[in-house]
Amino acid sequence: MPAFAVASGDKPAARGTGEGMKIECLSLGPLGTNCYVVGCEATAKGFIVDAADEPQRILRVIDDNGLQMEAIFQTHGHPDHTAALAEVAAATGADIYLHPAEVAMLDTFAGSLRQMFGDVAWPLAHCTYEEGDVISVGELRVQVLHTPGHTPGSVCLLVDEVLFSGDTLFAGGVGRWDLPGGDWEALARSLKRLATLPDATEALPGHGPASTIRNEKRSNPYLIELSRNA
Ligand SMILES: [Zn+2]
Ligand SMILES: [Zn+2]
Repeated sequence: MPAFAVASGDKPAARGTGEGMKIECLSLGPLGTNCYVVGCEATAKGFIVDAADEPQRILRVIDDNGLQMEAIFQTHGHPDHTAALAEVAAATGADIYLHPAEVAMLDTFAGSLRQMFGDVAWPLAHCTYEEGDVISVGELRVQVLHTPGHTPGSVCLLVDEVLFSGDTLFAGGVGRWDLPGGDWEALARSLKRLATLPDATEALPGHGPASTIRNEKRSNPYLIELSRNA
């Protein structure tokens, strides 16, 4: 399946800063995990959201767009979101970021990554980010929202009016909370918080199609139920 440009990438005028952002979404691996390759149009600096799988496909999109990758932002540490992490980090020199509560999760999957990429040093060098951090990539400002529930250290990343929602919020659904570290009460709080974002905010999830906060508040059964209980 070819990479496709998410519609948001074609609307730089809608950005609060006026600066353009190009977003390409790749659906990768057996679970169809979304990996976003994001570029600042003004500087050609870029970042990845979730180096999910199939590293050669990710690297090709980076190359095709002539991007200099500065960071790989992990929404969380599940293996379907991290299978390409070691190889993409090594090939691009980009810094890996994840929430401190996900570091143990990443280490849990060290064995399989080491087997796949025996020449990659382990543990992977990484930076941590937390609630409220803002990281600049070119002229883009990436704001970190700690949204636990699917996993303890799940984050969503907000760039102007685009929300990379990981496995916290999907179009018409929410992340599982029954896996190790999952917590429905925490997820419910995180979802209520996401529902307070501006309606026009686009949600780009870790699986499946894009949506908006407006659409999800109207049609996502979980958000509807939570708003009734608010
Ligand atoms: Zn997950
Ligand atoms: Zn996932």
